[in-house]
Amino acid sequence: MKHSSPDCPFCFGDGGHVVYRDAQCRVVLPDEPFPGFCRVVWDEHLAEFTDLSPADRHHCMAVVAAAETALRTLLAPDKVNLACLGNLTPHLHWHVIPRFADDSHFPQSVWGARQRPGVTRTLPPHFAESLEAHLAKTLGSPPAASERNLL
Ligand SMILES: [Zn+2]
Repeated sequence: MKHSSPDCPFCFGDGGHVVYRDAQCRVVLPDEPFPGFCRVVWDEHLAEFTDLSPADRHHCMAVVAAAETALRTLLAPDKVNLACLGNLTPHLHWHVIPRFADDSHFPQSVWGARQRPGVTRTLPPHFAESLEAHLAKTLGSPPAASERNLL
């Protein structure tokens, strides 16, 4: 039986549009003001990275790396920020955030002080589908949508 927490949004929701899912984790596009912002959410409610077994840590980072690689390919950001905080939602998740030198907060973190109005950047057409295809190619095809409901 996997751990879950009754008031945790990542236990009782995907946390965004799912672009990859396997038996242990998912990659989602949450509703965030930074275009291309992704999250890798571990399915089980565990707070710390070291709560994972060494094999699961390796898998988690492989998914984080795949997300970073896909974002670099699709968006050519100036930098990718990886962050694992969980202070507000102590359910293991990694933020994978494409950053641009002219975005509103660069070089601060996206949670830091705004630096400028920032360039409004739109995602390329079919971004979510392209990201899904990249992740499937790198990590293997996730289950079809009809199978996801059975998980
Ligand atoms: Zn949770």
